[in-house]
Amino acid sequence: METKLVKVDSENPERELLTEAAEILRKGGLVAFPTETVYGLGANGLDGDACKRIYEAKGRPSDNPLILTIGDISGLYPIVSRVTENAEKIIDAFWPGPITLVLPKADCVPSAVTGGLDTVAVRYPSNKIARELIKLAGIPVAAPSANSSGKPSPTRASHVAFDLDGKIDMIIDGGAADWGLESTILDVSEDKLVLLRPGAVTQEMIEKVVGPIDVDPAVYSKPSKDIVPKAPGMKYKHYSPSAKVILVSGPGDNVIRTINEKVREDEAKGLKVGIMATVQTENSYESGNVLVVGDRDKPETIGANLFKILRKFDFIGADVVYSEVFDEDGEGAAIMNRLNKAAGFNYIRC
Ligand code: AMP
Ligand code: MG
Repeated sequence: METKLVKVDSENPERELLTEAAEILRKGGLVAFPTETVYGLGANGLDGDACKRIYEAKGRPSDNPLILTIGDISGLYPIVSRVTENAEKIIDAFWPGPITLVLPKADCVPSAVTGGLDTVAVRYPSNKIARELIKLAGIPVAAPSANSSGKPSPTRASHVAFDLDGKIDMIIDGGAADWGLESTILDVSEDKLVLLRPGAVTQEMIEKVVGPIDVDPAVYSKPSKDIVPKAPGMKYKHYSPSAKVILVSGPGDNVIRTINEKVREDEAKGLKVGIMATVQTENSYESGNVLVVGDRDKPETIGANLFKILRKFDFIGADVVYSEVFDEDGEGAAIMNRLNKAAGFNYIRC
């Protein structure tokens, strides 16, 4: 299959290009498009066969359900069977935006979307291209991240092309995704709300609106026999480059000294070594391939670049990557959740 790549203006999306993309979606095809979190891989969310094509293109396990995106709030009610009072409060506070809500599903939602669950994950993105496209398609659009399963999520059209060229009908290039990490996932299907995946909308922001919420234990610990994530996708190895990723934590000076020692040892063995550094530390490393992920004082820069930098380590063929770690406060929770998963919770504490 030939994949058509089209550039669309993120501020004033060209209507004729989005109409063509919407037509592909309505006919059962696959279109990757930008959102404010990462690029999504869209299919008609009411067409089970179209949704199955998403799983094929991504190589995604069939028990890992998809997210349904909607282009305006009226799109929510036909696909869920109940909207709780707390869900309404979250919607008023944060939609459109980077938070996905898990709600009881309506009968029209195919099991290919939900992986057989009786709930459905729904998001109303704020990105203009995404909203216009979904509205023009006139259907809920199933849209998980547009990467090969297990690889870092795509934050640019070039990442999507690298993973999925020849496997999908169209890629809409709308520039770099603003936030760069996947949406927050909040289960609002029961009375007690549960955070299933941290993202741009933080636990603190949610609790200001609805009071204390629960956090799924898999958010901060390695999934195991006792800790089975409620978001099925969180149990898979994820976000990983081919290199082995090792997180180094401790006081700043110790981290730099330890990484320098490890890099020397590994390079002596003939390994290609990557270092994920920050603007604060980039000049402190003596050898290795140093890539700057962002500025510690501006965590949003780290979120925006994390997946791009993980992909770059693959591109340069790193065998092993040492990474600094970050504060888990606020948006740092999402950054460390993804980094822990990329590293399989592999730490050197110094
Ligand atoms: P992605 O958009 O690629 O990040 O994948 C969607 C994420 O949403 C995966 O982690 C899924 O496990 C999660 N998800 C989708 N539907 C549900 C649901 N009904 N309950 C819990 N998690 C869900
Ligand atoms: Mg994904």
